Amino acid sequence: MPVRQTLITIQCPHCGKTLVQGRPNCQFCGALLPAAYAAVPVHIDDRGQTPWQEVAYKIMCGGMIVLGALAVLQAALSNGYITGVFGGADLILGIGLLAENELAQGIVKFFAWLNVAAAAALFLVSFMWFGRILEPGGWVYLVGFFLGLGGCIYWGFMIYLINYFSDW
Ligand SMILES: [Zn+2]
Repeated sequence: MPVRQTLITIQCPHCGKTLVQGRPNCQFCGALLPAAYAAVPVHIDDRGQTPWQEVAYKIMCGGMIVLGALAVLQAALSNGYITGVFGGADLILGIGLLAENELAQGIVKFFAWLNVAAAAALFLVSFMWFGRILEPGGWVYLVGFFLGLGGCIYWGFMIYLINYFSDW
């Protein structure tokens, strides 16, 4: 866990100035801040810049929210109960991550670790059988190799981002 100096701030949706979180209205233009907007923490480093992790974290949360919402919509249109439950969970966890809710961060991190373990197993098994990729049907080992490798990187990166923005 890197030592970092961050201030929890928000940006005024009206004038765009950076404010310290927790105020009911903007100290510059006086605009009332919507509660949901003010609840999304924005971090800046000690040089006053947004760290790249912040951008990546927000993209990750946004992706979960959009994919979750699409799955719920699809489930509503086709009565797909299971798709709807998983989509709803993604949607709620994505919003929880965005608000840096510790429970949501813990749940997503737990599943991310499970996915890392599964991807690592796939990678190792594919690697062990790598000598067979030229045999008929051997392409599955190549696919497994890259899926496993990609899965480790993807889910590992997600864990890194959550660790960066959680306090425990
Ligand atoms: Zn303002």
